[in-house]
Amino acid sequence: MSACKRWNNLRVERNELVTDRETHLNANNWKIINLRAGTKNRAKRYYVQWSCQHCIEPACVGVCPVTAIKKLSHGPVVINEKKCIGCRYCFQACPWKVPQFDFDKRVTRKCHLCYNRTLLNYQKPACVAACPAGALAFNYKHQIILEAHRRVERLKTPSYIMGLTEAGGTDLITILPAEPRDLGLIAAPKKVINHNLDKIRVTASGILAASVIAGVMHFYAQTTRDRDEEYHDQEAE
Ligand code: SF4
Ligand code: SF4
Ligand code: SF4
Repeated sequence: MSACKRWNNLRVERNELVTDRETHLNANNWKIINLRAGTKNRAKRYYVQWSCQHCIEPACVGVCPVTAIKKLSHGPVVINEKKCIGCRYCFQACPWKVPQFDFDKRVTRKCHLCYNRTLLNYQKPACVAACPAGALAFNYKHQIILEAHRRVERLKTPSYIMGLTEAGGTDLITILPAEPRDLGLIAAPKKVINHNLDKIRVTASGILAASVIAGVMHFYAQTTRDRDEEYHDQEAE
């Protein structure tokens, strides 16, 4: 969370690093970590983290009227703040209500999977690089899925791998100690979510109280030249 704020120059709010205080996604909070109890066994509590899931077929992209959101070829779903008009259709369309409106900048913001680190020189995302416990990983997707299954095997406790089917599949893979709804998380439908732009209406920026544990991320195979081109295309738009 701190590493994300440092890398993305996001505002630090008072008391936000107090670990037993519930935090929510907002325009300056792109990744949240909360200590939460399961709905079935309230005695057990887990550190759960949450951010954009980087859907394979993102509902947010399809509804943006000015094509400000793009799914980059190696996974990240990125909002181009120079093009964003702040309509918040993407918030409405997102099954997890991730994109958050910035009332100062008048644009919508969210985790971009550190495309500006990974595309240029193979640097890991800032949050992954900063995690001292190695709970987060960043790799080719097939490797990440293998690693998720290995971790579940090692845990020897009931676990759920989120991201394999939710919203048609996501490029953020997360190991949960139970199914999302049993942790008080939004349980997205297991199919691609297509929204008709006409049906999306602007609402105030919302709050997400969601939780996950031990996130792992992925990175598709690409040549260096492809990545450099994609980075410069994204920055030039
Ligand atoms: S989680 Fe929401 S904001 Fe992120 S890519 Fe999916 S639809 Fe878009
Ligand atoms: S708020 Fe979302 S849908 Fe609207 S222009 Fe910005 S990125 Fe596009
Ligand atoms: S991937 Fe980058 S933008 Fe996303 S939460 Fe981690 S540090 Fe923040």
